[in-house]
Amino acid sequence: MTPEEFRRHGHDVVEWVAAYMERVRELPIVSTVNPGEIRARLPDAAPEEPEPFAALLRDLDEIVLPGITHWQAPGWFAYFPANASGPSILAELVAAGLGAQGMLWATSPAVTEIEAHVLDWLVDLLGLPQHFKTAVGPGGGVIQTSASDSTHLVHVVARDRAVGDGASIEHLVAYGSWQAHSSVERGARVAGFSHVRLLDADDALALRAGALRDAVEQDRAAGLVPTIVTSAVGTTATGAVDPVAAVAEIAGKYGLWHHVDAAWAGSAMLCEEQRAHQAGAERADSYTFNPHKWLFTNFDCNVLWVADRAPLITSLSILPPYLRNAASESGEVIDYRDWHVPLGRRFRALKLWWVLRSYGAGGLRRHVREHIALAAELGRRLDEHPRLERVAPVSFALVCFRHADGNPATEALAAAINAHPDLYVTPSAIGDMRFVRVAVGQTQTTAEDVERLWKAITDAA
Ligand SMILES: *Cc1c(COP(=O)(O)O)cnc(C)c1O
Repeated sequence: MTPEEFRRHGHDVVEWVAAYMERVRELPIVSTVNPGEIRARLPDAAPEEPEPFAALLRDLDEIVLPGITHWQAPGWFAYFPANASGPSILAELVAAGLGAQGMLWATSPAVTEIEAHVLDWLVDLLGLPQHFKTAVGPGGGVIQTSASDSTHLVHVVARDRAVGDGASIEHLVAYGSWQAHSSVERGARVAGFSHVRLLDADDALALRAGALRDAVEQDRAAGLVPTIVTSAVGTTATGAVDPVAAVAEIAGKYGLWHHVDAAWAGSAMLCEEQRAHQAGAERADSYTFNPHKWLFTNFDCNVLWVADRAPLITSLSILPPYLRNAASESGEVIDYRDWHVPLGRRFRALKLWWVLRSYGAGGLRRHVREHIALAAELGRRLDEHPRLERVAPVSFALVCFRHADGNPATEALAAAINAHPDLYVTPSAIGDMRFVRVAVGQTQTTAEDVERLWKAITDAA
């Protein structure tokens, strides 16, 4: 494809994406294809001869779209959002166009410096401590693929720190609440922990600090080495908020690494009035959040901050001769290859930079506040409804409720909502209790969409 052909087809592709944004609300929100159905429409072998670009575009509509579930639809209230936006998508295109590899500062200085700088901006925007900034130190921020990667990684770093202090690996213990994201248990497993304690939660499904203290003391008495604890700001199931300050206190007293998982709710910290929920995070060893959930930045874009970058780099740094260069040896630059498991890295900071500049912090705050207000209003209506009840406090922009008649009625309610072609919620469960999860946060979602959802709920309840 010549640059001239690229220009022509590129216009067609941008037009296709723009038209998709306009019509996404009309498409059936959930793909209903059967397993193998998409694959059956593909030829048995790759084409021997080049195909015209128009055929590729045609198959987007005919083959791809039927197999897409429309996360960008305004009636998307399922899971957590994965909200994309124009500036983010365009930056993704530019990053692909540049095709730069940012593994070292020297392999494209702009990739590293814009990332470091934008993540320092975000430290202030989310009310996090100054030492999380690479420009201040000793900590710093880095973009990873997913929150799971960040959580796995800090388990490795905490393990290495403990082993470096003389502990043997089979004695290390990792902690979180039983409501912690699965990446906590998996991260501990990946890092070689034999002991993972998923602790008791309180009535609001937040970790009980007392349960953590008891478990740590018991483990120490048994000759084990408490090593890392994760507190969640906004659990995946119900948005529960662990007592970060109390966990920080315990982690400080017993020398545990303290990781804060704010994968979804981190975006809410743009709003000063939400920051009480993460009080204590300024004492954490690491903090992760996903701009690719609720900050209008399409997947993938996860941020990990560490309070001290030295142990992270100690764990991950190796230096083959072909990567040696004067800039690295000067010690004046960041080489992000030492901050995560992969070597190569793409220019993901570009989309974050463009999103922050296109919306402005004020614009992002307005959108997030709007989502939170819509969820709060939905919660108020649920509280007044005779046949519906919340199963957890409304948390940020997440509302969890059930039918008062119990599990079968709740399942029927979720099915009735999801029978609408333009609405999608997640049926979920805690223990034996079924409930419906509504997360407000899609880019195009407005009060009218929540109104539509409320009508679907009350019609079926
Ligand atoms: C979504 C979520 C994760 C996982 O995020 P990925 O980026 O998909 O790995 C981790 N923790 C919490 C609390 C989450 O909500």
